[in-house]
Amino acid sequence: MAKSDVKAPAKEAKNVPDSDKAVKTVAKADMAIADKLVQLYRLQHIDSQIDRIRIQRGELPLEVQDLEDEVAGLETRLKKLQDELGEIEAQVSDRQNQIKDAKAQIKKYEAQQAKVRNNREYDSLTKEIEFQNLEIQLAEKRIKEAKAQIEAKKSVVDESQKLLEERRKDLELKKQELDDIVAETEKEEKALQKKSDAAAKSIEERLLSAYNRIRGNARNSLAVVAVERGSCGGCFNAIPPQRQLDIASHKKIIVCEHCGRILVDDYVVERVKSEA
Ligand SMILES: [Zn+2]
Repeated sequence: MAKSDVKAPAKEAKNVPDSDKAVKTVAKADMAIADKLVQLYRLQHIDSQIDRIRIQRGELPLEVQDLEDEVAGLETRLKKLQDELGEIEAQVSDRQNQIKDAKAQIKKYEAQQAKVRNNREYDSLTKEIEFQNLEIQLAEKRIKEAKAQIEAKKSVVDESQKLLEERRKDLELKKQELDDIVAETEKEEKALQKKSDAAAKSIEERLLSAYNRIRGNARNSLAVVAVERGSCGGCFNAIPPQRQLDIASHKKIIVCEHCGRILVDDYVVERVKSEA
C-alpha cells in the first residue's frame, strides 16, 4: 500500500481510461482515497452489525438477572409469611393446651370440693374454679382472634405463592429465550467476524490502527460515519460547507473537527450499501 493518502497503488489505475492523462492523474488519486474510505466504511458497517448483536444479546442476561432477583425476593417473603403463620398456629395450640390444663384443674378442684369439711375451703375451691373458667374464656377468645389472623395470612401466602409460580415460569421462558438467541446469534456473529477480519486485511495498517483507536474511544463504537444533512453522523455537529466539499472530493481522509471520527460522503455509503 502507498504511504501517502494521495498516491494510489498501480493496480488501481486500471479503473481509469488511458485516453485522458490529466483526468487519469486526478482520478488515480480520487480512486485511491475513495477506495480507502470504502474499505474503512465497509469494515465499520460490518463491525456495527456485530455490535448490534452483542448489545441485543447483552440485555437478555440482565433481564434474566432481574427476574432471578425478583424470584429470590418473593421466596424470602413467602418464607417469612409461612414462619409467621407457623407462629400463630403454635400460639393456637398453646392456648388449646391451656384450656386442657384448666379443664383438668377444674375437675381436680371439683373432686376436692366433694371431700372438703368446711365452707371456707369450699369457697376457696369455687374461686379457683371460677378463675380457671375465666382463663378458658380468655384462651378461647385469643384462639378465635388467632384463627382470623391465620385466615388472613393464608390468603396472603396463597397470593404470594401464585405470584412466585408466575415469576418462576417467566424466568424459565426468559432463560430459554436467552439460550436460543445466544445459539442463533453466535453463528451470525462468527460469520460477521470472518467478514470483518477479511475487510480489515485489505486496509493499510496505519489506517486500521487509527480506525481501531477511534472506535475504541467513541461512544457507539463508530469510527467512520457518514455526513448526514451537513452534520457529522457521529457527534451531530455541523460541518462547514468547504469541509463538506473536501470530504466529497476524496483527496484526503478527513476527520470530524469535533469528535475525530472519519467522515465519508454519500458516494462511499452507497458503494458499501450496494455490496450487501
Ligand atoms: Zn463528529
